[in-house]
Amino acid sequence: MNNEQYLVVVSGPSGSGKDTVVSRLMQRHPEIETSVSATTREKRPGEEEGVNYYYLTVPAFEKKIADGEILEYTRYCGNYYGTPRSEVDRRIDAGITVVLVIEVVGAGNIKRLYPGATTIFVQPPSYAELEARLRGRGTETEQAIQKRLARAVEEMGYASDYDETVVNDDADRCAEEIYQLIRRRQQAT
Ligand code: 5GP
Repeated sequence: MNNEQYLVVVSGPSGSGKDTVVSRLMQRHPEIETSVSATTREKRPGEEEGVNYYYLTVPAFEKKIADGEILEYTRYCGNYYGTPRSEVDRRIDAGITVVLVIEVVGAGNIKRLYPGATTIFVQPPSYAELEARLRGRGTETEQAIQKRLARAVEEMGYASDYDETVVNDDADRCAEEIYQLIRRRQQAT
């Protein structure tokens, strides 16, 4: 596979603010695109089909896996999440930088499939900040928050598996740091 350097994976625990960082990255650098994942989780208020995710039923998701349409997938807090193959290959072959915002298991799978991809781990500035961001969202039950906090702590242990680690103390600054990292690694290949 050529052009793997155009593939970028961004992970970080739920509440690290990685989605905000990646949307700032795209606002500042519109030539960068993100992949829209498929999921079986419920749509949150304000989310849109085809923009935030493709929302699928479990049987529909499993059919896509069986048909080879999902590049990588995992189960996260009881739901399926996966990257549609159609979101990635055509674009990196065309030299477009594509950012996947996915969790740690998916990131490891992508790195095995595309060793030339750049993997970046976004850390929250502190645990207290992470918890505050998760609660501040106000869309989840206490049980769901506890599940995400536990998973977040587990995920922090994976930071050293990534090519690069950044701290999200400020979304714009962090987005720019990621941009410079991507450019530097693309120029080195
Ligand atoms: P959320 O429910 O908060 O939107 O996402 C939960 C977690 O699933 C986040 O860490 C998010 O990055 C991850 N995720 C979203 N899409 C994918 C995907 O396609 N594959 C994998 N492996 N993880 C994903």
